[in-house]
Amino acid sequence: MRICPKCRKPVEETWTFCPYDGTDLRPGVGKETMPLVSQKVCPKCGAKYDSRTRFCMKDGTELKTA
Ligand SMILES: [Zn+2]
Ligand SMILES: [Zn+2]
Repeated sequence: MRICPKCRKPVEETWTFCPYDGTDLRPGVGKETMPLVSQKVCPKCGAKYDSRTRFCMKDGTELKTA
């Protein structure tokens, strides 16, 4: 589940555009986008993190964008 950066309504992960105001919901398009799902993955242990996390909390490996 994500939140539309414009109207703050919950939107489905699979939706490309907000049905309420037409905001582009694709990851990386809008700077205001605040994804609630993990977008990075540890290449070592496979743990998933959100896009703000840089290093794995378990083993310190630098995360890759999923
Ligand atoms: Zn919206
Ligand atoms: Zn790890």
